[in-house]
Amino acid sequence: MDFNEYQKAIIKYDLGVATDKVSNPDFMDKILGLVGESGEVAEKFKKVIRDKNSEMSEVDREEIAKELGDVLWYIATIARYMEVPLEEIVKKNLDKAQSRYERGKISGSGDNR
Ligand SMILES: [Mg+2]
Repeated sequence: MDFNEYQKAIIKYDLGVATDKVSNPDFMDKILGLVGESGEVAEKFKKVIRDKNSEMSEVDREEIAKELGDVLWYIATIARYMEVPLEEIVKKNLDKAQSRYERGKISGSGDNR
């Protein structure tokens, strides 16, 4: 399955109605959902650090991978609301990383370095 297929396949799980109006409750739900699911990823890592001497079990890996999937769902859905194919986001991100790599700018700061 490619990225755009995934983005289309998950539409049926979205209870909202796609809109490009960011303040629409259906759109806000996705923005807040992305933050919430990202927080769930961080929380699971925190517990591995705090309770397991930073060593992930296989169950931890599976649970964190599920949460990363939830993050992906929100990214794909937000992109759909914005009418941006997920494949385009992936490609532009890869192009950016490759450019930084070729220019020796992987480390450092700034969105447009
Ligand atoms: Mg989750």
